[in-house]
Amino acid sequence: MKDQADADRIDVHDFRHALKLVTEKRETAHYRNKKGLRCPACRRPFERLFISEKRHNSFDPNAANPFCIRHESDRVLVFTH
Ligand SMILES: [Zn+2]
Repeated sequence: MKDQADADRIDVHDFRHALKLVTEKRETAHYRNKKGLRCPACRRPFERLFISEKRHNSFDPNAANPFCIRHESDRVLVFTH
């Protein structure tokens, strides 16, 4: 039985028609939003989605567009706008 944190876990395979895989590594994946999917945090369409199962993640502030973060039990999802 899934716990509550995983009950609404985002399954990218459910959005395969709308997300283009840009890069995939062992613990990270990077997608481009092809169909205007909405960010679960702010409900605006996002441009890119970065998913990481790593404990620590660094981002370049010079590349920072507005972004939203979603925490799940074993990973973090970053939506850039
Ligand atoms: Zn957002």
